[in-house]
Amino acid sequence: MDIKVVDAHTHVQFEQYDKDRDEVIKRALDNRIGMINAGADLKSSQDAVDLAHKYEGLWATVGIHPTETQTHPDSGADKSEFISENQLSNQRESAMREIEKLAHDKKVVGIGECGYDLYRNKGEEVEKIQKELFIKHIQLSNRTRKPLVIHCREAFNETFKTLEEHKNLLLLEAGIFHFFTGRLKEAKKTIELGFSFTFGGLITYSREFDEVIRSIPLERILVETDAPFVTPAPFRGQRNEPAYVTEVVDSLSEVYKRDREEMAKIVLENTRRVFNLF
Ligand SMILES: [Zn+2]
Repeated sequence: MDIKVVDAHTHVQFEQYDKDRDEVIKRALDNRIGMINAGADLKSSQDAVDLAHKYEGLWATVGIHPTETQTHPDSGADKSEFISENQLSNQRESAMREIEKLAHDKKVVGIGECGYDLYRNKGEEVEKIQKELFIKHIQLSNRTRKPLVIHCREAFNETFKTLEEHKNLLLLEAGIFHFFTGRLKEAKKTIELGFSFTFGGLITYSREFDEVIRSIPLERILVETDAPFVTPAPFRGQRNEPAYVTEVVDSLSEVYKRDREEMAKIVLENTRRVFNLF
């Protein structure tokens, strides 16, 4: 298959595409855009794997997003108070066992999204739970030899600390920090740990990250849409989709002052290497 760019982190399996999923995928593939759909819980991981089997040019990652760790089965209901942390912990354990089964699938190219998200919830207990789950993903990455897809929101210190503590389990191509929003210092640390970066819609309308991006070696840069979220310019206000990833490539080519075609080639090569694609 002749692919020109891979959207390295997207969620076409999410319900926002229930009405027109096949058209959205076709729009991307017709433009020679492949995609890696990232799981955020057990169901969306399974759905991502199923889609990857349906289409050439699609791959999946499997994992449990850090904010999914606080999900009660009947969230919102008063009854949830009766579910002990112990029961929730058992649920997470069994979900991870299922994730592990999926992880061996040949169209699964990475483990995640996983990591820390201390934006909405924080505190010792939240951190402890997120850490426990993150470590299970790191171990799974090591066992399957598949790179990590890291979600890190307002939690660089915690994320780096946990990765440092398990440095011996990280792969040489450790994976990606998706939707990277760190500064120079964080970028440097990310590189030291063997990770690459995905940038998305944000860099098409914000110049805030240009300096950080330029500090990153070209071979560490990948592109994503994180669709249905963070729609790039000029499509802001609409639902995002993988076909728009070329806008991100164009913005990168401006930041690095490279030709668009050349930038696309570099990014594709990086995605191939990090995720062992084809
Ligand atoms: Zn995502």
